[in-house]
Amino acid sequence: MMPVLPANPDDISVHVPVVIAGGGACGLVAALAARDAGRDVLVLEASPIPRGSSAMSLGALCAVGSREQALHGVDDDADRFVDDVMRKTNGTADPIIARLVGRESGPALDWLHDRHGVSLRLDTNWPPAFGHSRMRLHVSPGRSGLDLMDRLIAACENAGVMILTEARVTDILAEGDIVRAVRYSRPDGTVETVGCDALVLATCGFGGNRGMIAEYIPDMAEARYFGWEGNRGEGILLGMGLGGAVGDMSAYQGLGLLTEPQGIDLNPRFLIEGGIQVNSAGRRFAHELDDISGQGARVIAQPGGVAWVVYDERIHASCADLPQYVQLGEVAALKGYADIPSLARAHNIDPMGLAATLAEIPSHGPDAFGRVFDTPALVPPFRAVKVTGALFHTQGGLLIDQEAHVLRNDGKRLPNLFAGGGSARGFTGSNASGYLPGAGLACAITMGRVAGRAAARLPIQLLDG
Ligand SMILES: Cc1cc2nc3c(=O)[nH]c(=O)nc-3n(C[C@H](O)[C@H](O)[C@H](O)COP(=O)(O)OP(=O)(O)OC[C@H]3O[C@@H](n4cnc5c(N)ncnc54)[C@H](O)[C@@H]3O)c2cc1C
Repeated sequence: MMPVLPANPDDISVHVPVVIAGGGACGLVAALAARDAGRDVLVLEASPIPRGSSAMSLGALCAVGSREQALHGVDDDADRFVDDVMRKTNGTADPIIARLVGRESGPALDWLHDRHGVSLRLDTNWPPAFGHSRMRLHVSPGRSGLDLMDRLIAACENAGVMILTEARVTDILAEGDIVRAVRYSRPDGTVETVGCDALVLATCGFGGNRGMIAEYIPDMAEARYFGWEGNRGEGILLGMGLGGAVGDMSAYQGLGLLTEPQGIDLNPRFLIEGGIQVNSAGRRFAHELDDISGQGARVIAQPGGVAWVVYDERIHASCADLPQYVQLGEVAALKGYADIPSLARAHNIDPMGLAATLAEIPSHGPDAFGRVFDTPALVPPFRAVKVTGALFHTQGGLLIDQEAHVLRNDGKRLPNLFAGGGSARGFTGSNASGYLPGAGLACAITMGRVAGRAAARLPIQLLDG
């Protein structure tokens, strides 16, 4: 646990009503919400530029009840979303968080667009898949998390949010369980303190903390971490230090689509549009679409810990403008092969196995893994990309209520501590398999808005008790 120290008023010369630890999507959205409520806000971000896993992401988040969905005639609501979440997680997800995201995610996107000029469009190339029964994936125009972060930073500048970079939050100064100030360190070793009425923890999860991974997700202790290295669970530990409870700490998002050796995150659309994943024997090993996150561990379990995404020219053309695929094309020779033997030879895949695999794909009805191929059959020329599995981000964290207040073990609120995004318990249950696409950023943006709004109401509520 991170230290929580007694607050000494003499140490606190600067006071900002709302302080936010962490400047990823959650922190910046929380800051915008608090500014909208007329509060001064300070974001303390450890890195030289606000980036985080948000900037590494594909920039696609699931949202329910957005204007974009309505424009495209998508009939969706919070009840349907909660049903999907509960089905995907076998009833283990936190229903409070599932409902919070189901109710608030669409309005959060509409608000970002109307009030702050940050637009996310429904991605009509993402049909309902991987647990979503409706089209829910919304993307930023540049189709990347970096693009989304740049837009959020610009919105924060316009709104007058103060962002202090290279400021790593290290301690909470408290009176009992009330946060009075936070302490942060600078790269030159100096330590500064800022007083606040409310603190929002938005430092994401603990993927960058090997000790915490070994403790909470031992199965992935040896797996590669492909998230923001600076996410070491410090916000979660600070919250725990103040008495905050945690849940679903074993939950995480894995992905079996990290290109090897380039380390680029391949978009799941290659699979959604009909691609398959095979191992070095040329054999498929799972229903590629039933568990986007659990597929990471399945790929790691293959010989050499690798697999190949096999697709064709149709899929190549459809995905050609995806930024990550463009990036891959700049560093790898992506080419089509006239037949299976030449592709297999080039990629060291067993040609007989691959030929048998392609021949086995049924033209209708479910295959041996239960996958129904409702897309055109793969035809030559074929293409392949080598991938591995990795842990992308953790999904467990501090328990929060409908207003993003951090809760204690007895269910009571900590008076002025809030959490969101990867620092809070998500809605994906207790393992990797409950993850629905777009859940990470959905938590960041939805909880960020809710937390910023509620934090801006203090200290009135705090004084009222
Ligand atoms: C490769 C990849 C692809 C992904 N793709 C998607 C996707 O397409 N859709 C989706 O929904 N999710 C995706 N995710 C998950 C998603 O990116 C995260 O769930 C989400 O970005 C979390 O947002 P956040 O604001 O909580 O954390 P972050 O964006 O990680 O921000 C946390 C910030 O806190 C800072 N910080 C950490 N500790 C401290 C400290 N002590 N003091 C001050 N600052 C601190 C960090 O430097 C960081 O900037 C992906 C993740 C990865 C890694």
